[in-house]
Amino acid sequence: MRIHELKQRLREAGAGPSHEQRILRLWSHALPRNSGRRLPGTFFPSSLLEALPAIEAELAGLARIHAVHPGADGSERLLVALADGQTVESVLLPRDGLCVSSQVGCAVGCQFCMTGRDGLLRQVGSAEIIAQVALARMRRPVRKVVFMGMGEPAHNLDNVMEAIDLLGTVGNIGHKNIVFSTVGDPRAFERLLQQRVRPALALSLHTTKAELRKRLLPRAPGLTPEEVVDAGERYARATGYPIQYQWTLLEAVNDGQDEIDGIVKLLSGKYGVLNMIPFNAVDGVAFSRPSWERCEEIARTLHQRGILTKLRNSAGQDVDGGCGQLRARAAEVRVT
Ligand code: SF4
Repeated sequence: MRIHELKQRLREAGAGPSHEQRILRLWSHALPRNSGRRLPGTFFPSSLLEALPAIEAELAGLARIHAVHPGADGSERLLVALADGQTVESVLLPRDGLCVSSQVGCAVGCQFCMTGRDGLLRQVGSAEIIAQVALARMRRPVRKVVFMGMGEPAHNLDNVMEAIDLLGTVGNIGHKNIVFSTVGDPRAFERLLQQRVRPALALSLHTTKAELRKRLLPRAPGLTPEEVVDAGERYARATGYPIQYQWTLLEAVNDGQDEIDGIVKLLSGKYGVLNMIPFNAVDGVAFSRPSWERCEEIARTLHQRGILTKLRNSAGQDVDGGCGQLRARAAEVRVT
């Protein structure tokens, strides 16, 4: 079910705008749904009251938590089973953040990512995205939602836009606390600027070299790193939110002095921050993680040369996390 289909069904059942808002708010906050109809002064038409149990049962059946993997850093990786048996990951992050998935699998095929291994299996519907938020809110508060889980949100724009609109309105997430993370797709930049809820933007850069970027992100739109940063800069100036440039540090691939010089040239004076995340080692992926000392040295050098850089350990690493790894592991468990 997509959110516009849900709204249509509610309207057909007699819901007015205020009923619709109340139902969507309760759902996205995972609050007991009956309480909304019993508030003094709240009138729900009898046709709506009759239709609601079936609609609510359908919403509740969209997704369920299949497994929870707690991390020592306070993160929790949730393996979420969808109604058709497919699974996606959501990650509860420290400080009330939630990372959601927008696709089952992914067509971009980044060389260092497990999610892209099987290609795209299917889109995650807008209601399934909100269901991930509602499930997470049953465990703890969620005040920030980042689209950095499985999938490329720009390849599922209609569903992701619907979900972002709901999150930024009745879902009570501040617009700059919604983060759309993409490898860089011109269609996405245009659409995002037209929305009433305009999220912050994270752009996967990973290298300053066009040829290497093509090899690392083989099916990303063919933008050069300069074109990605130019598009990011326009979005940042239009929204007032700095761009989060993402960089997965791979030993002997993109952790050299040439890349440091390239970053300084590319990002000096730009309205953004560089997030560097050392690669999470995965069986079957032929990349290595640079030493922590080398990562710190890179971040320190960039700082000294005027680039705002944050070095992060990706949340959930101690539970063998990383893009798509939980799902891969569950699949293994199922077949053995
Ligand atoms: Fe897709 Fe993101 Fe994995 Fe790349 S890193 S394959 S865009 S899920």
